[in-house]
Amino acid sequence: MGYTSEQLCASDFVSITHHDDVEPGIGALESMVSGLTDVYRTEKRLLHADGHDIWVTLSTTVVRDDDRPLYFLSHFLDITDRKQFESRLQHLADHDPLTGMANRHSFEATLNRHVSTVARHGHAGALLVLDLDHFKQINDTLGHSAGDELIASLASVVRRRLRPTDVIGRLGGDEFAVMLPYSSRDHAEHVASNLLDAIRAEVTVLRGAHQRKVTTSIGIAMFDDPNLTGAEILINADLAMYDAKEAGRDRYAVHETAETRPTTRARLAWVDRITHALDHDRFILYAQPIMHLATRKIARHELLLRMIAEDGTIISPATFLSVAEKFGLISRIDRWVVDHAITALAAHPDHELAFEINLSGVSMGDNDLLTFIEQRLAESPGIKPSQLTFEVTETAAVANLGDAASSPTA
Ligand code: GH3
Ligand code: MG
Repeated sequence: MGYTSEQLCASDFVSITHHDDVEPGIGALESMVSGLTDVYRTEKRLLHADGHDIWVTLSTTVVRDDDRPLYFLSHFLDITDRKQFESRLQHLADHDPLTGMANRHSFEATLNRHVSTVARHGHAGALLVLDLDHFKQINDTLGHSAGDELIASLASVVRRRLRPTDVIGRLGGDEFAVMLPYSSRDHAEHVASNLLDAIRAEVTVLRGAHQRKVTTSIGIAMFDDPNLTGAEILINADLAMYDAKEAGRDRYAVHETAETRPTTRARLAWVDRITHALDHDRFILYAQPIMHLATRKIARHELLLRMIAEDGTIISPATFLSVAEKFGLISRIDRWVVDHAITALAAHPDHELAFEINLSGVSMGDNDLLTFIEQRLAESPGIKPSQLTFEVTETAAVANLGDAASSPTA
């Protein structure tokens, strides 16, 4: 602890204990002296001679002569390394490594805590969801690491514009969220408009000799309904963000309730239609032949998904896939496709068919999908895995690039 034994002998436990940990210690010692307890075990902070904290586990007992307490006997073990390691682990679990911001998981936890306070005490508050415009183009033309740099610089611009009480998190990919805990709607719109200006003015990427401007779209949802959960407010802000994208990007939109907002209603109606189609098997696969030009032979077929509308018309995936990805329906759709592709292969054992199947990037985060594919193949022993090729579409952020890269389905 950096003290000489003379210094230690001349000091009492209060002077070498972190002040926040003194109070519980005194209570515990008193209860040992009075004979209520025999041992006291705890973790606490001691003060090193140079002022820094040392985390220790402590066990103390009281030594008695007959019934008279003589002195305490204490044993300390320095656990500073373990505590630092624990807090580093906690930090890693709660934060996004690229920007150092709260990740989706811990942002949602903070949001939920605030939402339940709001429900009890009736304060206002607003949630902003930001999503970069055409970020995929930056990745595709300048590379993934340029994309990463851009995300980091956007994060620092946003952070500089906010107050210390505002909460900010990276929800994933190019999507960020900002919680303004006690904001009115006017204030939230003011903040959103400031953020748009700041990003437009300050965030750029170099493309050759030219700087390229970067813009974002922002959705705002208010905490005005005490029945809403954090997750629902997040969806509302997300829906508003999509409205801002649809209205031309580089702007904000405020979430209005479902009754007043046709585009929102339309999108939610699509969720119903997709769910209905899944429940009633109203999808169809078209097989587009891919020909080897030198041999003029059909090498394989690419399977293209279509939805069958209630009136029998065929709906292209451009209409429903983005809604399916946003609202967690894409895994069911991908399974439907895999399932039907394997059934078709099994039904035509003599045809040497091979299929190319498009999977959503979102499904790369779904570890059960691989198990599902393996199970289906195991049930159909006539099919060689080489008869299936999976293509991962880039329509959605691949949430975990490490997983996606190592997944044998990729
Ligand atoms: P939109 O204006 O509609 O938002 O178009 P967008 O191109 O920005 O499309 P979207 O927001 O749907 O896609 C975000 C892209 O971000 C998809 C993915 O390639 C990329 N991405 C996701 N996570 C990361 C990351 O950590 N680093 C980099 N460099 N790119 C990422
Ligand atoms: Mg984007």
